[in-house]
Parts: sequence; C-alpha cells; structure tokens
Amino acid sequence: MASTLPHPGTARGTVLQSTGSWITVQTDARRIRCRVRGRLRLGAVRTTNPVAVGDRVSVRINADGTGLITAVLDRDTSLTRRAAGRNRGTEQVLVSNIGTIWIVQAATLPNPNPGFIDRVLVSAEIQGIKAGLIINKMDLAVRETATRAAELYQTYGALGIESYLTSAVTGRGVEAFAKALAGQSSAIAGPSGVGKSTLLNKVEPGLNLRSGIVSNKTRKGRHTTSYATLLPLSSGGFVIDTPGIREFGLTDLGPSELSHYFCEFRRYIGGCRFGSCTHDHEPGCSIKDAVERRAIAKTRYRSYQNILKSLRNGGDYRPRRRAARRWRHT
Ligand code: GDP
Ligand code: ZN
Repeated sequence: MASTLPHPGTARGTVLQSTGSWITVQTDARRIRCRVRGRLRLGAVRTTNPVAVGDRVSVRINADGTGLITAVLDRDTSLTRRAAGRNRGTEQVLVSNIGTIWIVQAATLPNPNPGFIDRVLVSAEIQGIKAGLIINKMDLAVRETATRAAELYQTYGALGIESYLTSAVTGRGVEAFAKALAGQSSAIAGPSGVGKSTLLNKVEPGLNLRSGIVSNKTRKGRHTTSYATLLPLSSGGFVIDTPGIREFGLTDLGPSELSHYFCEFRRYIGGCRFGSCTHDHEPGCSIKDAVERRAIAKTRYRSYQNILKSLRNGGDYRPRRRAARRWRHT
C-alpha cells in the first residue's frame, strides 16, 4: 500500500549492531550509521538501552548519509535482563525479535554447564522464545565426555528441545543446524570457547567471524566481541551472536513461580500437599517424588534448586561490571 511507504529521506530497517553511540541499521538498500533521537522512549518499562539489536526501526536520513532513529517498532519478543549498578530497577534489552535462542555448549573444553543451559531455558520460557541446544566439539568426545554429551542430548531432547550434536571440525551436524537456522530469526548463546564463531563460519562461510585465535582474556579481544551482532544469513533470516547472553539472568520471578518454567515440572505442581509448595524443603512434594522415581532428571532438579536459591537471595546473579559499564552512558 502506498500509504505504508516511507517518505523520501526516511527508511525502515533492522538494527545490526549497537555500540552505544552509533547504531548500525540495515535497510533494504544499505547499511546506515545512526544515532538515536534523545527522547526516544519505549512503553512503560524503563530500559537502559532504547534500541536493541534485532529492533525494527524508522530512520531519518541526514544529508551526510548518517541516520537518526526516530522510532522503534513494537517488538515481537525480547530477551531482557535486569540492569545493575546505577541502572538498578531498569531493564536491559539484550536482543529483540528472535524466534529461537540456540544454547551452545561443548562436549568438552570447556565442559558443559547444565546450570547455564537451564537458566537460559527458563528465561526463554518466560519470554516466550523457543530454545534449542547445540553440543559442539563432538570430535573430542570420548568415554566420559561422550557419555555426558549423549545424556544431555537425551535429557533435553526428551523435553522437546531441538538438539544437535555437532563438530565444526568434522562437519557433523553442521548441515542440520544450518537448516534449522534458515529463514528464522535466532540468537546464539554460550560461553566463549565452545565454538560459536567457528560453527557459524561453517554454516555461512561469508561471515568471516573471528574465532578463538584472538585471546578472550585481553581487553582488546573482549571489546571487539562484547557487542551483540546481527548476522544476516544467505539462507534467509538472521542469527544474532550475542556475547551478553553469557550473563543472561532472570528478571523479577517469584520463587513460587519458578517451577512453572521448568516445562516437565508443570504436570506435577498441583499434586503437592501444600498449595504454596516451592518443591524444596516441603513434605509431600510431588515434584521431589518425581525426581525420586526418575521421571524428572536429577540435574534439572538441581538447577531448579540453584535458581530458586538465587531468586531468594534477591534476584538473578549480578552481571559482571564490564557488562554494566557498557550501557551506562545510554
Ligand atoms: P566461541 O568463543 O564460542 O566463538 O568459540 P570459537 O569459535 O572461537 O572456538 C574456540 C576454539 O575451539 C577455537 O580454537 C576453535 O578452533 C575450536 N573449535 C571450535 N569448534 C570446534 C569443534 O567442533 N571441535 C574442536 N576440536 N575444536 C573446535
Ligand atoms: Zn512441591
């Protein structure tokens, strides 16, 4: 419809990267470096960053070719975390408009972290985003590490979570993962060193992402990799590489609500002796019974207890200072 076409000098686009002062926007035609209009506000929730990677935005194009973001279109989904430090009480939007978040772990080097997997799964459940699991470096999996990878694959597969065993070295599972990404809007989350960049380079060789050779310990290395980046895929759709999700936390969840976001716990919740059961210390708990009967995996219950403890201690774990500083000026 003609009425939906942007005016000359304006454009619609998607935010590829936001480094605070400059925001890169991809329009149909090109990439534009943009700034944000000072008073841009979004809904009722205060956010530390008014514009997030993945946002669809309206841009007014300046004479010098740079742009001014004048509006952020409604988000379908967003991954948020509670901001820390001076911005406490506000939210930081990590990424927006993604359909699936892929949790990447390695079979070994580094070892898988079920606690991290489960935190991201709960957050994804809360925010209505599908989650998937990749266990990479399967070429290094032998004996115990192979068994552990198989167990994870089995546990999460049984929960209905799309899971792949991959190796960026041998190519195992890469094609299947590439198919899962095609035409979708996804984010990728996992600790450094599990092979996220290497895997994405395999999926889309044109991306030329820097992988592990660059030290993640040096400040410089950190800086170049600490911003979420939206990567368009030639198969359609995009994937957002988001180092920030390493510190992905849970926002404003009451201890009694937590069990509802462990999908396999839900069917047992009504069966506890106490309506207010937190499935922790209470007698007559049907979830603990299910764990005893092995109907619920012990590792999942352990994650539940750990997250419950952190919620009782006043919310999610604190993001590292570096992460908080990144957004402070916005
Ligand atoms: P990222 O920090 O998650 O992006 O991890 P990188 O992609 O930088 O990979 C970290 C290191 O693991 C690099 O030395 C990669 O070459 C290596 N690596 C990545 N994928 C695999 C894999 O499937 N198997 C093995 N053996 N090494 C891998
Ligand atoms: Zn209970």
